[in-house]
Amino acid sequence: MEQTEIKHNADNAIENNKKRNDILLIVGILIGIAILAVVVWLVFFQGSGTKAVVMVNDRVIFEQELTMDCQLPIQTEAGYNILQIQNGEVRILEADCRDQICVEHVSINKKGETIVCLPHKLVVEVQ
Ligand SMILES: [Zn+2]
Repeated sequence: MEQTEIKHNADNAIENNKKRNDILLIVGILIGIAILAVVVWLVFFQGSGTKAVVMVNDRVIFEQELTMDCQLPIQTEAGYNILQIQNGEVRILEADCRDQICVEHVSINKKGETIVCLPHKLVVEVQ
């Protein structure tokens, strides 16, 4: 009687172990799927922005959708910048700032990317 009891317990332990492994495997797969979903979401939906936000002195002066190609002159006290939106990308086409860093900056189109024109205290951010 005792013998069978012990054997039974041992079987139970093995069975429980198997169950635990199954649960771990399922949890692992679920975490894997969740991570994959987040990555896919980030790449396809968060990766490229939808609008350019222009700020001067940390104040938003206007926003422009990236779907429409256009050239927008931005006049500030310090000078002017011409913002260009083309094929969903933003760049500074022209400016009269002294360093021209904003003009030389490559086009941006990803969320959170910025072009800064320090002399004009101008920031263009993709959101
Ligand atoms: Zn500049």
